[in-house]
Amino acid sequence: MSSKKMRTDDDNLDKFIAEARREQERRQKSYRERALKIYPQVCARCGREFSGKKLRELTVHHKDHNHDNNPPDGSNWELLCMYCHDNEHTRYQDAEWYDDQSPKREQEPRSTYKPFANLADLLKNKKPEEKK
Ligand SMILES: [Zn+2]
Ligand SMILES: [Zn+2]
Repeated sequence: MSSKKMRTDDDNLDKFIAEARREQERRQKSYRERALKIYPQVCARCGREFSGKKLRELTVHHKDHNHDNNPPDGSNWELLCMYCHDNEHTRYQDAEWYDDQSPKREQEPRSTYKPFANLADLLKNKKPEEKK
């Protein structure tokens, strides 16, 4: 009975993390799509053009480096290719660009940690039965 309760807590944590990530992705996707509609699909720094599959390499930079500042007219956005975007942030020593694969993820959900599995093994080992 009580082991079931712990499981539910883990599930909730997983769900919470998944939901937060999904929300972030949804937001990023929506402003990216909007930015691509407003601006020509060209890197604002090096002038390379992007289309089709390559379009993935064109990313949205926030001029004030604030991800949450997304005015509908696109005035805070700039389309940059991955390289120029990387350069831009190296210059300012901040890491907006790395947000999606952020290393500061909270602690991993402990899905491999089973407090009772070990106990079961211990009990089993106490039984002197030969398995062959
Ligand atoms: Zn570029
Ligand atoms: Zn940026």
